Amino acid sequence: CGIFAYLNYQVPRTRKEIFETLVKGLQRLEYRGYDSAGIAVDGPDKTSTDINSNTICLIKKTGKVKALDEELYKKDTLDLDAELFTHFGIAHTRWATHGEPSAVNSHPHRSDKDNEFVVIHNGIITNYKELKAYLINKGYEFESETDTEVIPKLIKYVYDNRESDNISFSKLVERVIQQLEGAFALVFKSRHFPADAVCTRRGSPLLIGVRSEHELLTENISVQYNSGHSKEGVIEKNSHNRPDCSDSINSVGDGRAVEYYFASDASAIIEHTNKVLYLEDNDIAAVTGGKLSIHRMSRQAGEDPVRAIQTLQ
Ligand code: GLU
Repeated sequence: CGIFAYLNYQVPRTRKEIFETLVKGLQRLEYRGYDSAGIAVDGPDKTSTDINSNTICLIKKTGKVKALDEELYKKDTLDLDAELFTHFGIAHTRWATHGEPSAVNSHPHRSDKDNEFVVIHNGIITNYKELKAYLINKGYEFESETDTEVIPKLIKYVYDNRESDNISFSKLVERVIQQLEGAFALVFKSRHFPADAVCTRRGSPLLIGVRSEHELLTENISVQYNSGHSKEGVIEKNSHNRPDCSDSINSVGDGRAVEYYFASDASAIIEHTNKVLYLEDNDIAAVTGGKLSIHRMSRQAGEDPVRAIQTLQ
């Protein structure tokens, strides 16, 4: 029932500091209610000892965030003092809707045993049964009873069947949410896009905090539309060429040091930064090479093509 994720780009943090940031974020969301908690960070999994193997490590636990916190320090394969210059960690508190509270039903959920894609989800996917049947038929194996697990399986299915190697992480997520019905806030992490983040929402809240030592180049990000067609007809492909958003550019961050926080509500972000961006339904936010951009399928009539970075008081 709570999402918290933290991306440090060219800001050295030890693994211990990252754990502390993730756990504190979850604790700020505890009031929302939950029955279990989990995180995903870079690092060797239980069976691997190679720290540079670009693996994703999942740690999940029923009960309190405190119990998860204790679990994090039991993994002797994870070097707590290792400095992760650029890293993306995701964390979740679950309030079970489908499948009992258990470690395997806890989030993050994964695409496969190699954790190619991992996902945290708030909300309910109402058409998960059809999607699950479809994916099982395609040979994907499920390990939990949750509605959520169709999402990491589906993104792997889209990835495995991609028509081009250049497909972006946000495009994969766009294909996934086109298939989903119900309510969701989602954050994705992937071995194929190390240190990149993609998140999206429909009906469940999600916001992004931005912290940088540098002046942000813009406080207005123009949405990038993947298709130039709207219901009303053809519109320009790049919305930033439009006169009504000439004061905005289409990414935040200029490749210099920056940190991003993703959360279900501002209470988990405010201690880190007061610069926040609220996502609209069906927005897809991507951080690639430290730059944040917002993507949508197509522009509908009357839709605001700009997302503002607000300063919370
Ligand atoms: N429906 C999902 C589950 O049961 C997510 C629940 C939540 O929002 O915490 O795992």
